[in-house]
Amino acid sequence: MVKKISLVIDELTGCEGCKMSLLELIEPLLDSIMRDEIEIVYAPILLDAESFDHADIALLAGSIRNSEDLEKARWIREKVDILVATGACAYIGGIHGLGNLFTWRDLVSGVFGNVNHEVADEIPSLLEYTKPLWREVNVDYFIPGCPPNPDTIAKVLDGIKRGLKPHEIFEARTVCDECPLKREEKSASKVLRVIDTPVEQSTDRCLLEQGYLCLGPSTLAGCGALCPKKGVPCIGCYGFVVKPGESFDNAIARTIASIGASFKIEPPERIDDEILDTIGTFMKFILPSFFIPRIIK
Ligand code: SF4
Ligand code: SF4
Ligand code: SF4
Repeated sequence: MVKKISLVIDELTGCEGCKMSLLELIEPLLDSIMRDEIEIVYAPILLDAESFDHADIALLAGSIRNSEDLEKARWIREKVDILVATGACAYIGGIHGLGNLFTWRDLVSGVFGNVNHEVADEIPSLLEYTKPLWREVNVDYFIPGCPPNPDTIAKVLDGIKRGLKPHEIFEARTVCDECPLKREEKSASKVLRVIDTPVEQSTDRCLLEQGYLCLGPSTLAGCGALCPKKGVPCIGCYGFVVKPGESFDNAIARTIASIGASFKIEPPERIDDEILDTIGTFMKFILPSFFIPRIIK
């Protein structure tokens, strides 16, 4: 008899997008649930179970932004055998990690003005900065994407079932490997921004070679090159390819170097002058995983 797999699904601070992807996964899982191969033991979006004793796998989305996130991440980690950081926020910090460029005090006063401390005392306190799960708890597997494509979630679950290691599940394929646009090994001579120069839809030329900062050459495959197929440069939501044993910092440095090398800018122009927002361009999702993950004052 096949061993029943017990599953936990939950989210920390995020935008709910990962929850939608996880919900889309439920339908294909229904067969296995009916055959008694999978049991969802805790999932606040689906069940009213308030707790659980133990589970084989937890799919945990969202990043650690406040004291409640930290408590919940530790609580789930203690009770499960395999913790899967699900989505860009959990895996590398995610897009709201760009808030790490400000102190939490500046963020709160920027949005809410003067804080009513009586109310503020009743809600979980913000931590100094947004963190991906790996900074606080041990993570076994990851599911990239903002949000992850449900096929990517299914692929990771299948890999876990087959006993594969994380790098064996994803190999080192990039968005370029899935992209139908044509690369001709040509360099661009100018950095273009979609907002100033809309992409010509009639051409099938690689966006990077046209001059748009497409992060496809370094970004992990899995989304089916969703954005470039629609004429929009990849902004790296699946995270960069990280070789076994390599740090996120190396992967970020490699990405910046390889994208920079795709341009031949004539002096006195400089590529770093042409890229208006280096952190926003190259670290939109991954800043909280960089060795300096936040502003230091
Ligand atoms: S990874 Fe993206 S979709 Fe998922 S919670 Fe974070 S911001 Fe939302
Ligand atoms: S458009 Fe982007 S993803 Fe497609 S081939 Fe060019 S660099 Fe790669
Ligand atoms: S093309 Fe890039 S930004 Fe778009 S979904 Fe895929 S990985 Fe994310």
